[in-house]
Amino acid sequence: MADPEARLDELTTGLRERGNRLTPQRMAVLKILATSEGHPSVEQIYERVKVDFPMTSLATIYKTVTLLKEMGEVLELGFSDDSNRYDGNKPYPHPHLICTKCKNIVDPKVATLSELHQEVARVSGYQIVSHRLDFFGLCPQCQEKK
Ligand SMILES: [Zn+2]
Ligand SMILES: [Zn+2]
Repeated sequence: MADPEARLDELTTGLRERGNRLTPQRMAVLKILATSEGHPSVEQIYERVKVDFPMTSLATIYKTVTLLKEMGEVLELGFSDDSNRYDGNKPYPHPHLICTKCKNIVDPKVATLSELHQEVARVSGYQIVSHRLDFFGLCPQCQEKK
């Protein structure tokens, strides 16, 4: 995981350089995305920001996330049957572990997975520009609750 403090700096600098105002609400969104604990959806970010800023609108969260996506500062994980989820800590493609029960999403810390990219390029002759690799299962917390 990238240092959340450093990521927050990158996100705020990026937005400022593009002439965006950094409201306290927007800063709260950036803080959540800099860590991206559990890879939140826009709705989950909204719920968290509302605790400190009850006047925040869902549209504000959407706008900020869309802006960051256009800047390439947040990775979007789309799901056909569920909300999109976001990783602003690691904005580039990387593997994910998805709990099918509580929907928590984490980054697996497996070194060989990062070599997979080069291996796929080597054996296929493709120039890989992106990838999507998701593992689905039950997280340890959900296994205990069974
Ligand atoms: Zn779970
Ligand atoms: Zn991730």
